[in-house]
Amino acid sequence: MTDESLDNPVALVCESCGMPLNKNISSALDNRYCIHCQNQQTGELKNFEQVRASSIQATITLLGKTPQEAEMMADQMMPTLPRWQNKTRNI
Ligand SMILES: [Zn+2]
Repeated sequence: MTDESLDNPVALVCESCGMPLNKNISSALDNRYCIHCQNQQTGELKNFEQVRASSIQATITLLGKTPQEAEMMADQMMPTLPRWQNKTRNI
């Protein structure tokens, strides 16, 4: 394991949901993703709608935003993440 890289001050974010990664939530199977996006047993990744829904929920809960604000933030943020950039290019 490369614990040093996870302690690096450069802000890493999950390439799927944009959540800041630290060694507590970084996926053990793929360090581009967090444990919320990747199932730690199967390695399965949540799909776009699932990630979007949990991102909206987290924004409401953690940042106290309204559902409308949270949806807008998710729709602005998610297309900037590497995982979904590739996806939209390939469609
Ligand atoms: Zn994630």
